[in-house]
Amino acid sequence: MDEQSDTDNEVPIPPSGVCPSKCIIHCVQEPSNNKLISPKDMLSWQSFLNAAKIRGHKAILDIADAIPENSFPQERVYYHRDCRSKFTLKRDLKVIKSSE
Ligand SMILES: [Zn+2]
Repeated sequence: MDEQSDTDNEVPIPPSGVCPSKCIIHCVQEPSNNKLISPKDMLSWQSFLNAAKIRGHKAILDIADAIPENSFPQERVYYHRDCRSKFTLKRDLKVIKSSE
């Protein structure tokens, strides 16, 4: 089981109480723990991007297009931990892939 490979950094919400950005995924309703995190490294971003490609998530693919290859958009992409783990769930991605 590698569905728990979530090692992303937690991004502290600024003191103003304003979120740095909204959750880019928003595949679920606001989780109770709505702390936003961002990709920690290339690997983290790539597995996230891979899920976005399979799901055809335009907002994420647009960001991927806008950044240089072999880099990752730290401080540009934020999401909820819960959203990410659902978004990148391998079991779900497999179902989407096989139904294409
Ligand atoms: Zn979310």
